[in-house]
Amino acid sequence: MFDELICPDCRTPIAGWTSGNAADRDCEMLRCVRCCVSYPVIKGIPRMIREMAEQTSAPRAAAADAENHAADFHKTWHRTQTSFGRQWLRYDVQTTDEDKQTFENKTGFCLNRLSGMKVLDAGCGGGRYAFVTGSASANVTAVDISLAVEKTQELCRSLKNVAIIQANLMSLPFSKASFDRIYSIGVLHHTPDTRKAFEALIPYLKPGGEISIWLYPKWDPLRETMNRFWRSITTRLPHAAIHTFSRLVSPFGALRGRVYRSKQRMLARILWQTEKIFPGISNHPDPRQRVCDTFDWLTPQYQWHHTDAEVRDWFRSVGLTDIRNLSEEYGQFHPGQGEGVCFTGKKPAAIDC
Ligand SMILES: [Zn+2]
Repeated sequence: MFDELICPDCRTPIAGWTSGNAADRDCEMLRCVRCCVSYPVIKGIPRMIREMAEQTSAPRAAAADAENHAADFHKTWHRTQTSFGRQWLRYDVQTTDEDKQTFENKTGFCLNRLSGMKVLDAGCGGGRYAFVTGSASANVTAVDISLAVEKTQELCRSLKNVAIIQANLMSLPFSKASFDRIYSIGVLHHTPDTRKAFEALIPYLKPGGEISIWLYPKWDPLRETMNRFWRSITTRLPHAAIHTFSRLVSPFGALRGRVYRSKQRMLARILWQTEKIFPGISNHPDPRQRVCDTFDWLTPQYQWHHTDAEVRDWFRSVGLTDIRNLSEEYGQFHPGQGEGVCFTGKKPAAIDC
C-alpha cells in the first residue's frame, strides 16, 4: 500500500524511505524527493498531512511558505482534528451488527459484493465501517485527519486488507482513479466546506465506480437557529466539559428514546418540542453511544446541514449518473439514529473530473 502513495503536496510518487531518528522523532519517514518533505510513519501509520510533515533542506522562501501553510492549517483544521481524535480514542462504540446495517443503509453498497474491490473510507473516525468493509474482504484504505486512525488500526489489526493513512480529504495522497467505491458517512459536513470536500473525492473514483455520502439534514428555521446558538457556546468549551455535560444529559436522551419507541404519542409530541429547543442530545438506546453522539454533536468546529436538493445538485454537477436518494428508500434506519441526507452516484466511463 505504501508504494502506491503519492505526495499530497506536489503529487509525485513517494520514492525511497529513510528510517531512524529524523530530527527529534524516533520513527520512520516517507520522504518526497521532489519537495524535500518527510512524512512520518508513526505506529505503522503514514501521517500524510503536509502541514504536519517536516521540511528538510528547504530554501528560506519555502520554509516561510511552509510556516504560513501550518498557521492556516491550525486555524482551519486544528479543532476538527483534536475533537474527533479525542472522541474516537475516548469512546468505544463499535457494534458490528448495527454498523453493518448502518453501512448498507447509508451507502447502498451490499457488503457481500465488495469482496476484492478497492474501497476508500473517507473519514474513518474510529474505524467501525472500515472494520465491516474489511471483514467483507474489500481492500480498504481508511483515511482520517485525526488521531482516530490509531483507534481504526487497533480495531482492524486482524485485517491485513485494511490500510490506514492519516490524511486530509482535501489533499489525499493517492493517484486519480484509484478506487471502485468511496463512502463517507457523517464526515464531509465537519469540513470547512462540505461541497468542496465532496468534489475533492471524485477524482479518486475509477470510471464506473460509485460514491455514497451521508450528511446532516437541514431542519426548520427554529431548530436550526437554536442549534447554532447552543453550538456557538459548546464549540468554545473544553472537551472535558462537553464530555461531562454529555454524560449528565444522557438519562434525558434515554427517557426520550424510550417514549418515542412506546405508544405514548402525546408525551412523545411534547418531548419532540425539546429537540427543537435543545438539539443534539442523543436518544440512542445504548448509553455509550448516546454519550458519544452527544459529544459528537456539540464539539466539532464545523457542522453544516444540507437539503436533498442541494446534495442532488452536487452529484449532478460533477457528472455522476445513477443518482439515488437513499434516505427516501430506507427512511429511519434503527432506534436512536437520526435522519440524514444520503445519496449515491456512479462515475460514468467517460468523465474527466
Ligand atoms: Zn512532494
